[in-house]
This record gives sequence, structure tokens and C-alpha cells, in this order.
Amino acid sequence: MAAMVKDGILNCSDDEEENFSDDGDWGDWKADDNGVGVGEEEEDDGFESDFVCLFCDSHYVSCDLLFEHCRMSHGFDFHGIRNELKLDFYASFKLINYIRSQVAENKSWSWGIVLETVDSKDVKFPWDEEKYLKPFWQEDSLLYSFADDEDEEDELLDREELMEDLKKLGDISIDDEAVGESSVSNNDKCSLNGSKDVTQLSNCNGLKQSCADDLTVNGKDAGTDVSVPRVCDGRLVGRNIRKANENYFGSYSSFGIHKEMLSDKVRTEAYRDAILKNPTLLCGSVVMDVGCGTGILSLFAAKAGASRVIAVEASEKMAKVATKIAKDNSVFHDNEHNGVLEVAHSMVEELEKSIKIQPHSVDVLVSEWMGYCLLYESMLTSVLYARDRWLKPGGAILPDTATMFAAGFGKGATSLPFWEDVYGFDMSSIGKEILEDTARISVVDVIEERDLVTQPALLQTFDLATMKPDEVDFTATAMLEPNESEAKTSLCHGVVLWFDTGFTDRFCKENPTVLSTSPYTPPTHWAQTVLTFKEPISVAPATLLSGDDRTGAIGTEECPASSIHLRVSVARAPEHRSIDVSLEATGVSSKGLKRRWPVQIFNL
Ligand code: SAH
Repeated sequence: MAAMVKDGILNCSDDEEENFSDDGDWGDWKADDNGVGVGEEEEDDGFESDFVCLFCDSHYVSCDLLFEHCRMSHGFDFHGIRNELKLDFYASFKLINYIRSQVAENKSWSWGIVLETVDSKDVKFPWDEEKYLKPFWQEDSLLYSFADDEDEEDELLDREELMEDLKKLGDISIDDEAVGESSVSNNDKCSLNGSKDVTQLSNCNGLKQSCADDLTVNGKDAGTDVSVPRVCDGRLVGRNIRKANENYFGSYSSFGIHKEMLSDKVRTEAYRDAILKNPTLLCGSVVMDVGCGTGILSLFAAKAGASRVIAVEASEKMAKVATKIAKDNSVFHDNEHNGVLEVAHSMVEELEKSIKIQPHSVDVLVSEWMGYCLLYESMLTSVLYARDRWLKPGGAILPDTATMFAAGFGKGATSLPFWEDVYGFDMSSIGKEILEDTARISVVDVIEERDLVTQPALLQTFDLATMKPDEVDFTATAMLEPNESEAKTSLCHGVVLWFDTGFTDRFCKENPTVLSTSPYTPPTHWAQTVLTFKEPISVAPATLLSGDDRTGAIGTEECPASSIHLRVSVARAPEHRSIDVSLEATGVSSKGLKRRWPVQIFNL
């Protein structure tokens, strides 16, 4: 399952350069929210940077860019909050000065604390004081420009109701420590709506925290950037989730996506074999299929002799389609109790509203939940929700493992060779520009084994039977060793990520199987996820370098690295169903000396 493609970016190959340049949304955010200080880049380019962030030192050339940065990096949606709280020009003016004063005093500031001081009948905001009409900064361009960007789209909500909601949300703080605390408590709470919980968690517990240690961005210490405070507004979060869910389930209403998944034989046959070739597991069992789509996995389960198959699908259209297909194949469970397959149109998190099902009554939970880079789309948390609610103790989950791998790729996997010789002409400048873009935006593309310059390394393994939902966000390290077979120096241009899922003999005792999306096995519709380094790293096998006295910067032709130490973090991004991946590479010389490159952050 890897259907939702964001603005065409995620699913393009790296020579579809138009996708990188003409997309306004990405253009707006990628520079700043990758942790690359927009201000720095703009200053380098000679732009005048007039607008300074409310929470950090980033500078922007426009209000729009600044507010987008505040929203993405600090979870503070200025326009949304203005609309929600019905703040007029003066109230907004005061809010800006108030925030600047609080941040300057380094105060722990949270909506929860703010709102406790507010009487909901006679609403008075803490910034609603005359003194905040005085600019906190003499030359604060923001004060004179923010009103140009009125966003009238969002409906205005009842102010008292909003205050109540925000109070309920409690402390979602811009104070670093409080952010940590609130994310933990969100995590412990089990909300009725699993996905809402997930997003609150992700808003407060994103990548910025998971890669917090000694992070550098473009060679500068980004410690403060990493622990960038975030402010969450529950109503806005809820609305964003709804919108993201509508888009997401809407994208699954198109038959093309289902055709693509069904035509992916590696994928579908792995599931088919796991279900049909393990009769002891399936025969007579109660099966739940989370996200049934056309119902293919449920049909396999019915064929394997399951006594009851509950196919859950949130897309209304696909739930209807799955019902029709089940009827057409005579496995539908009707009033006369023919057939075993019932279809529930519901998000699995709300299944109890649709059908009667006892907690912990399912023998086998099956789902094809994997997205690009395994975790894009965040469907795994829905599967874990279903596991914790309906799977019997000791019940089977298919697949039961998921493992992420990484390997370094060489020039052959980039678009450089193509552009170097186009009908005999040198167009390599295009190739270089594309490479610069791909150092900020991940690309989903099929990478050939021959284009890998290092051996693969395991990054992270999930045990789906036991993992906790918050373990979906992780930081892992791995060592990439140059391919011995190369016996020469090569340039490592970046890292390719992929995953395998296992139907292991823990549950599939008769015929365990693996679904691999690696560059060493036939390609799947997931392809691989390509993260390009800003600067290629020269590598050579340790055997070639032993006794070598070369000096120079590690990772250059003069002194190739004998291995690359990787640190990768994957975390759900503030944007619902999206993920952030951070990549930090350290070249290690044959003598053990190290050189570390700035962290790069990619959003998927
Ligand atoms: N099982 C099918 C479809 C996989 S695609 C197959 O293997 O071909 C994933 C499906 O899960 C989509 O149809 C999507 O609409 C559905 N889905 C995603 N999250 C869901 C959730 N939380 N509850 C119910 N269905 C969900």
C-alpha cells in the first residue's frame, strides 16, 4: 500500500525535474523546515531578510514564508489562530508583541497556562493589554505586514467553545521540557480516535526531538533549532487531520491505485502465500483485514478456510466495491449466513460503531499497511490500534516483522550520467541542479543493485506483535561499508532506504515468507526511497586503504572514508500522515578519524 503521492513529488524519478521546481508548497517550506536556516541561505544570496521568526532566529523575505515556517517548525499557525480566536488587527498586533516579549524573557509559555488565566465568559487574552500595542521591537516589519495575508478560508468558531476546547487540550507548551512531557502523556492516553492521538503525538514529538543530540545544520550547531518549541492548537490539529484523512481515503477511491497494488506480484503473492500456504493458522480462524481495499486479502482468507472474515475499509467507495466483489465470489456473509466475509465501512479506530465485535476475539490480523519508506501514511498505528483492541492474546499478525535497511548509492543511481551526454552535448549543469534539489526532497525511484557502492546495513526492526505505537518514531545508527568488490575509490552520492516485511515462522509455521522491497530483489511499486547527500563522500574498502598514509579531508579523493556512519531518524511530521526523515553521515577514515556532515532533513 503506497498510494498517496504528495503533489507528485514523492513518486517521481530524479530526472523529472519539473516536479521539483514548480511546486509552490514545497518551495515555500523545504528550505526552512529542513532545518536549513532560510535566513542563512537568503543572506548568502544577497537577499534582504526582513521578517524575523517569533520563536527563533530565522529571517524571511515575506510574511507568508515566515508564517509557514512558524506553522511547520513551531506548530504555530498564526492565521489559523487569528481566525479561531477572531482576533482583529489590534489584537493580532498585540499577540505578536506579547509572544516576542515572552520569548525574549525565555518564559515557559503555553496555551494551557494562558487560557487558565482567561475567564471564558468574559474572555480576556493575556496579550489584551495596552502595553502590547507598543512594538516590542522598534523595527518589527511583521507588525506592519501581517494583515496583508488575511486567510478567510477557515470557518470562524464560537469563541467560548474554542476556549473550552483549548483548555481541555491543556499544556501544549513552547517550553521544551513541557513539550516532552505533553507528548508522553498524549501517548499514554488512549483516545477514542486513534488517529487524533497519533497526530497530537507527532506534533509534539516529531523529528526535532528524536534527533536532538548534537545536531548540526549546515555546519552550525542547531541545538536550539532541534528543540524548537512547538505550539499546538487542538482545533486546528483536528481540522488538519480531517482534511488529511479525506484526501487520504479519497485517494483510495480510485481503481488505478488498487490495480497498481494488485498488479504488484511481489507484494500480492507474498500475502497470498502467507495466507493460503499456512492452513493451520487460517483454517477455522476469525480474521480481521485492516484496510481491505478491493478485499483481496479477505478473499484469500475466506479461501483458506477462515470461519469469519471482517474486512474493514474507511473509503466508502471501496467498502461498497469490496462488498460487491465478496458477493460476486459467493463469500459474502448475508442474512442467511452464507459466506464468511463481512465488510465494515469504517475507520478501524471506529469499528465498534459499525459492527458487533468482542474485544480480543480475532485470531489473525492481516493488513497491507506499508507506505513509501515503510512509514509514510502512518497506517501502521491503525493496525496496532486494531491489534491492541481485537487480537486475541497470542493471536497472529500478518506480517509480523518489518525491517528497514540502508545502503550507499553511486553516481549511476543519480541523473548525472544521463545529463552528461545528451546526443553528444554536455548538459551536466541540469544534472547538478537536480542533485541539489534531491538533497532536500526525497525521491521514490527504483535503484539497481549495480549502482550501490556500499553493502546494505540494517537500520531498524519492528516486531509488530509486540511494538508500542510510539515506537513508530525512531532513531537508528548503522555503518555502511564500501563494497569490497569495487576495490577502488567511488563516490557515495547518498543513501537508499527500503524495507522487508516478514511472515515469519512464529505464526506462518508451514510456509514462512518475506516480502522484500530491496534493490537486490525484483522491484515493487514501493521502489526505494532515495536520500541524496549535499556533497558526495569518497569511499574505498578498508583493504584498499590499509597502510595508506593519505591525508586530507576525510571523504575526499585525497582521503576516502573506509566507512560511513549513518544516523537516521524517522518521525511522524506535523502534517498528518507525513513523515520526516533526518540523515546524518560521518565519514570514518582507515585510521579511525572522523568527519561529520551537516544533518539533512527530508519530508515525505
Ligand atoms: N488490503 C488491500 C488494500 C491495501 S491499501 C490490498 O492489499 O490490496 C490500504 C487500504 O487501507 C486503503 O484502501 C485505505 O482506504 C484503507 N485504510 C487505511 N487506513 C485505514 C483505517 N484506519 N481504517 C480503515 N481502512 C483504512
